[in-house]
Amino acid sequence: MLGLINHVVRISARRDRTEINSAMVDALMDLFAPERLTIYRCYTGKRKTIVFACAGYGPQGQFLRNAYLPDHHFCQPIDRDPLLRQCRKELSAVLDYQEDGSHRIIFPVLRLDEPIYFIDLVLSDEFSADRRVTLMGLIEYFGNHIALLDYGEADTLTGLASRKTFDKHLFELLGQAASDELLGNEHQFARRTLAPDSNHWLAVCDIDHFKHINDNFGHLIGDEVLIMLSQVMRQSFRFDDQLFRFGGEEFIALLQPTDRASAQATLDRFRSDVEKTVFSRVGHVTVSIGFSQLLSCDTPTDVIERADEALYYAKRNGRNQVACYEQLITDGRLAAREIAKGEVELF
Ligand code: GH3
Ligand code: MG
Ligand code: MG
Repeated sequence: MLGLINHVVRISARRDRTEINSAMVDALMDLFAPERLTIYRCYTGKRKTIVFACAGYGPQGQFLRNAYLPDHHFCQPIDRDPLLRQCRKELSAVLDYQEDGSHRIIFPVLRLDEPIYFIDLVLSDEFSADRRVTLMGLIEYFGNHIALLDYGEADTLTGLASRKTFDKHLFELLGQAASDELLGNEHQFARRTLAPDSNHWLAVCDIDHFKHINDNFGHLIGDEVLIMLSQVMRQSFRFDDQLFRFGGEEFIALLQPTDRASAQATLDRFRSDVEKTVFSRVGHVTVSIGFSQLLSCDTPTDVIERADEALYYAKRNGRNQVACYEQLITDGRLAAREIAKGEVELF
């Protein structure tokens, strides 16, 4: 009992998903000594559901991965694992007896009837009813703690991540970019099997003539447009691209590593998805997007300023379009302000 309370106290002290997972693995290992344990994050997409093994215990011992940055090597479509698939379908705990006498049990952690995590354990012994209740209670507690965290981090209107979590996420990506540089590109490409010119990209997206929408239809309908736009955004981007509502009618997307042409294509697909959507009473709405490459020496302000410059270019040149900062510089359509600054700092 004391052990359980100590673990609950430790989990409750954490505010970061990776750290919460770490404390949860400690608790489950200590209290239930499973043979194997995996905490999966679950991403429900338009076409398929992906699970990311973000923490646990396996043949190589305990493992812990950044829960905010799904590493592709440890992501898989849920359908590849029949028991996970069954758990997703039934939305309740599922059990399977293994040949060696152990049993595997998976618990879903749900939000609004969608699984957001799975806790997957292989246990050697049959549990007493008491221990089963303790295990279920601990998992329920974990789910409630995550729900509170989500509530604090999400924008209340759209449910996307809010501005206050943006800096933290961006610093994590910048840290990853810097460590990839230190370890050498070879390591980076081996780890994530990327094309050699892959980079993280930051895109700023702003609704065109949103003031007119508010003026003509009122603020409530304006808000409805924001909600619908966030839905289009979720469906357009990949599960591991990070989406934020940054200001009133401004959104930010942090794209997973890819080359410039693919980033442009992804953003253009989103722009076109918005253009095709009928926003109930308002009808058609368009967005303008500016994007720029994330550099390891960037502060959040640096990269946002570059993407903003590209965004303003898109606004000045007719709206409903996507502009890349680096491309505009190469084409001589924007002055290379940031690049000049970088050179001054280098020498
Ligand atoms: P542009 O194409 O140049 O972007 O024109 P715009 O009218 O969209 O101009 P701008 O982006 O500067 O305008 C933002 C407007 O968005 C101002 C404000 O009335 C409205 N707005 C900001 N936040 C909210 C919100 O939460 N709800 C609603 N309904 N409107 C908002
Ligand atoms: Mg704006
Ligand atoms: Mg606008």
